[in-house]
Amino acid sequence: IICENTMKTKILQESSLEDISLAGEILRSGGLVAIPTETVYGLAADALNEKAVCSIYAAKGRPSDNPLIVHIASFHELEPLVSEIPDEALRLANAFWPGPLTVILKKSSMISNTVSGGLDTVAVRFPANTTACAVIKATGRPLAAPSANTSGKPSPTTFAHVEADLFGKIDAIIKGKDCPVGVESTVLSLVGVPKLLRPGGITLHQLEEVIGTVEVDRAV
Ligand code: AMP
Ligand code: MG
Repeated sequence: IICENTMKTKILQESSLEDISLAGEILRSGGLVAIPTETVYGLAADALNEKAVCSIYAAKGRPSDNPLIVHIASFHELEPLVSEIPDEALRLANAFWPGPLTVILKKSSMISNTVSGGLDTVAVRFPANTTACAVIKATGRPLAAPSANTSGKPSPTTFAHVEADLFGKIDAIIKGKDCPVGVESTVLSLVGVPKLLRPGGITLHQLEEVIGTVEVDRAV
């Protein structure tokens, strides 16, 4: 009989180099690790491992058509994930990366439909949290990471929130500090005219200062 909630979840320390490298090993072998970021805690998996990405949806109870944000730890990691990098993306990355801005671009063939929720686009972000970046580097792959909560619950901004919600359901949680931004990343589509899809850590005004007029999606 396979039971839910029986996985032994490791608690890892963000100050321990050994623990960061263990997080990388777990992720490289297809596991799930919750990581602190400056916005909210994320539930990370190797973005290039479809089975691992599927287990994010399973652990969260997230509908499979709700696409995931792919996290990178340097600007040059963007190029292989997308089919083109428009000038606006360069300017925004210069201004706001690392930081709480997610951009939507046309995906390359490296990005599976599991990550993109069946869309031909991909959401990418370079987080500012040094632990998140260290884990991405330790893994050596981009990490797909939605918020580390069961679908429908609020996004977690503390280690205690993640532990209460996901302990026993994922391989490990990195115990980091409370998230300083405390709201999700701003999601901006750069496919066609720039369009704000989700408000967040970077304001509409900040975006418009860099790339001019930004449309606001009706759903916002
Ligand atoms: P979460 O990681 O739980 O904060 O959710 C990620 C957010 O990014 C959701 O609102 C998604 O709908 C949005 N998102 C991710 N990928 C795409 C995409 N390719 N196109 C549009 N929105 C996206
Ligand atoms: Mg979420």
